[in-house]
Amino acid sequence: MDERTRKQIQFSVVYLIVAMLGMWLFQELIFRPLLIRQTEVPYSQFLDQLEAGEVETVTLGGERIIYTTRQDTEGGGQQRRIYNVVAVEDPDLIKRLLDAGVTFEAQAPNSDLLTTVLGWIIPLLPFALIWYYVYRQMGQAGRGIMAIGKSKAREITGEMTGVKFDDVGGADEVEVELKEIIEFLKDPQRFTRLGAKLPKGVLLVGPPGTGKTLLAKATAGEAGVPFFSISGSDFVEMFVGVGAARVRDLFEQAKSKAPCIVFIDEIDAIGRARTTVGAVGANDEREQTLNQLLTEMDGFEPNQGVIIMAATNRPEILDKALLRPGRFDRQIQVGLPTEEGRRQILKIHTRNVKLGPDVDLDRLAQITPGFSGADLANVVNEAALLAVRRNSDSVSMADFDLAIERVVAGLQRKMPLKDEVKRRVAYHEGGHALVAQLLPHTDPVHKVSIIPTAKGALGYTMQMPEEDQYLLSKEELEERMAVMLGGRAAELLIFGEPSTGAANDLERATELARRMVTEFGMTKALGPVRYAASAGMEYLQTQIGLRQEISPETAAIIDQETRRLVEEAQKRATDLLRENEAALHQVAQALQEREVIGGDEIARIAAAHGAQ
Ligand code: ADP
Ligand code: MG
Ligand code: ZN
Repeated sequence: MDERTRKQIQFSVVYLIVAMLGMWLFQELIFRPLLIRQTEVPYSQFLDQLEAGEVETVTLGGERIIYTTRQDTEGGGQQRRIYNVVAVEDPDLIKRLLDAGVTFEAQAPNSDLLTTVLGWIIPLLPFALIWYYVYRQMGQAGRGIMAIGKSKAREITGEMTGVKFDDVGGADEVEVELKEIIEFLKDPQRFTRLGAKLPKGVLLVGPPGTGKTLLAKATAGEAGVPFFSISGSDFVEMFVGVGAARVRDLFEQAKSKAPCIVFIDEIDAIGRARTTVGAVGANDEREQTLNQLLTEMDGFEPNQGVIIMAATNRPEILDKALLRPGRFDRQIQVGLPTEEGRRQILKIHTRNVKLGPDVDLDRLAQITPGFSGADLANVVNEAALLAVRRNSDSVSMADFDLAIERVVAGLQRKMPLKDEVKRRVAYHEGGHALVAQLLPHTDPVHKVSIIPTAKGALGYTMQMPEEDQYLLSKEELEERMAVMLGGRAAELLIFGEPSTGAANDLERATELARRMVTEFGMTKALGPVRYAASAGMEYLQTQIGLRQEISPETAAIIDQETRRLVEEAQKRATDLLRENEAALHQVAQALQEREVIGGDEIARIAAAHGAQ
């Protein structure tokens, strides 16, 4: 029996019961009392009729006496009528009945049908209701009690999403990376004929609301293949083995519908590293589910035409096994949108919104750094609601301004940056990037951004190590420190004063300098002696007196040397930036305009200004 028929049967049974109950209640609660009231007579009339010999039968109830009469009518026929009276304390009643010669019977005092049945039903009613709702909920979730192990993905059997890349804004780079997968899904044979191997699994990584789910749907939509989607949190079930069964089911379904996409949203819910200790039962269950997922991923050939996509905003907690070749071996970063991206997203979401003549999407994109696609969709919706409330037939710029304020209030932390703050951040990050570019031994700059991050930083400079480094020389460490202080140096150079924005840089630089002094023996003043107790704790321990081996004089020298190293690094960064101030201006300018620029562009700007 499939879901549909079972639901229908279930519905008609419930309907029947409700209807019968309703009819019965109507009769007992409305019709009968009405009847009783209509036929009620005073006790005296009953006695009169009894004496007159008109009464035929009597039923003695606990509360009422019901009796019938027979009267001769004018036409010679007989008329029977039914009456009732409220029972009164009448010791002579039985005698009178006997005298009158009527047939009579008594009802047990409590056998009133209504009270008996209601006495049973009312206490049971809450239980019945609870049971009914639980059952219905399970029915809605797509499974009766018998079908818990069936995958939820079954219901959306090959959903054709209809979403296109046109519906996704500001993700051009990601779309390029997904093109290949779309080509593959359109014609898997073409790839297999050539012996080309495609990744089985693609992991979309990025903060919440950046459109990962949307991109997965658009990939399926562009390729015109079915989209099976399930969320990691759906797998977390109460019974052991259910999650694993679901995974098996999901893949079975998908394989029969290939080519297609299987999308696992919030994969971190099942893919968390297996070593973490948690609630024992839940952990077992999750592990089984994860193991099943790994088995399934290994269990089919890439040419079967099933591409598995997954999304997470916490890639660092994923089990390493998931990221091995043949599984999710391709990761695609989906970041917060740039100004241009935000403009595109706003355009997409205002497609069906009537905008007033004063609405300037460029301006809106400008003042919303740090907003995700979902935040922007939210802003548009909020603005439209405000316009409706104003009884206006179009959305004005003022609606948008208020909407942004509301969304910001909802997000806290994410403040639209004022222009002067943006300028400062641009110089700060530009400083880091340029110093990294100009110094010979540092890792090349990968990208610089002044989009505030979800973690609260106002911008960041990303460097890419060319190779894994196991050993760093003193010179390399000093250059690293200079890069760390490059942001602060730029701020001092351009604005003449530091800001709080460099606090984290200072912390990292100081930490590095201290280790150079106490762990790596890199200063003449202290020589090749290790002064650290255990990594990270040494300073604290000397402070609270746990370790007495460092004399106060030595501690003073450690502080002094640390300070000297940091100051030298800062001077180095400052000198470098002063010599290349024109380049710094240009980098900062580019950042203010586009918010994110690549390392190649930094290199180009530096070269154009005569630096190497
Ligand atoms: P994620 O999966 O990364 O958390 P979603 O794909 O669920 O984000 O995005 C939620 C909603 O936000 C989408 O349905 C869409 O309306 C909007 N959205 C997010 N990113 C974009 C984008 N790049 N372009 C257009 N709309 C977006
Ligand atoms: Mg999502
Ligand atoms: Zn910094």
